[in-house]
Amino acid sequence: MKKVLVCDPIAPEGVKMMEDAGFEVDARKGIPPEELEKIVGDYNAVIVRSATKVTEPVIKAGKNLELIARGGVGLDNVDQAAAKEAGVKVVNTPEASSRSVAELALAHMLAVARHIPRGTAGMKAGKWEKKKLKGTELMDKTVGIIGIGRIGRTLAGMCNGLGMKVVAYDLPEALSSLTEDYIERASSLDDLLAKSDFISLHLPKTPKTANMISSEQFGKMKDGVIIVNCSRGGVVDEKALAEALASGKVAGAGIDVFEKEPPEENPFAGMDNVSMTPHIGASTKEGQFRVGLAVAEKVIEHLS
Ligand code: NAD
Repeated sequence: MKKVLVCDPIAPEGVKMMEDAGFEVDARKGIPPEELEKIVGDYNAVIVRSATKVTEPVIKAGKNLELIARGGVGLDNVDQAAAKEAGVKVVNTPEASSRSVAELALAHMLAVARHIPRGTAGMKAGKWEKKKLKGTELMDKTVGIIGIGRIGRTLAGMCNGLGMKVVAYDLPEALSSLTEDYIERASSLDDLLAKSDFISLHLPKTPKTANMISSEQFGKMKDGVIIVNCSRGGVVDEKALAEALASGKVAGAGIDVFEKEPPEENPFAGMDNVSMTPHIGASTKEGQFRVGLAVAEKVIEHLS
């Protein structure tokens, strides 16, 4: 019987699916690295979320390991080179949380457009700033989506439903494979920056996308633009964004991801035109449930 070690919690339905498929599943939480190295040799597959690090020593100790399955997006916590060297397959479930992340990006757009952070802070401080909190509707505004993959397209559909115009920037091959006719394909990043009232980022952090939005790009945007980053910290230059917010060039921002998490010195801490969440884009009941099932499906597919 093949054995699966679940190192970070997944939905119990996912564990049951694997047991029903005939695997022996050990679900344990918070295994210290040295213990993981000792026990991993007994297993054919390990399942992790973002907490457990699957390092080279762990992979080398995994004499029977065939598969490392990461529930969610990103593989930063898995040593992929060591896995390749050892002939261990690595999979993830990026699609399972797209809806959750897209909904959070939309929530930040609405929160900033309607001054919810400042309204909440004011009410808690006993203020009634009714006259100062005139907001902006989303309808008929243009949202620029940078990175029109799984999450970007999901957000595009929701924004279209709200009566917004949608313009997208991505690599040429991604733009040409789009089928949605309501999405305008930006001719360049500058084209998107010039047209957008809201800008939402949905692309990975790579050497090419690090600080992709910095002082120069803020200068090319409309005055009073609203920026949302639910992708990865450091795709937007935090210092430049804080300056653009302080100068009023950017009217507000919604931020779920930070250059350092948690931030040591949060440059937005004193700004009431910023809506912030602690990297919770994928954290919904439904998203977690789908991740649990998707990761179980991948294990069954690869070990059967
Ligand atoms: P995806 O791979 O489906 O889409 C990413 C898009 O970015 C692709 O279309 C790709 O072509 C584009 N892209 C990559 N490099 C580019 C470049 N240099 N210039 C222009 N476009 C480029 O990914 P996804 O599932 O939609 O995820 C998008 C981002 O959201 C990722 O960074 C992911 O890590 C992040 N994410 C965040 C959370 C959260 O909790 N906030 C959760 C899940 C995913």
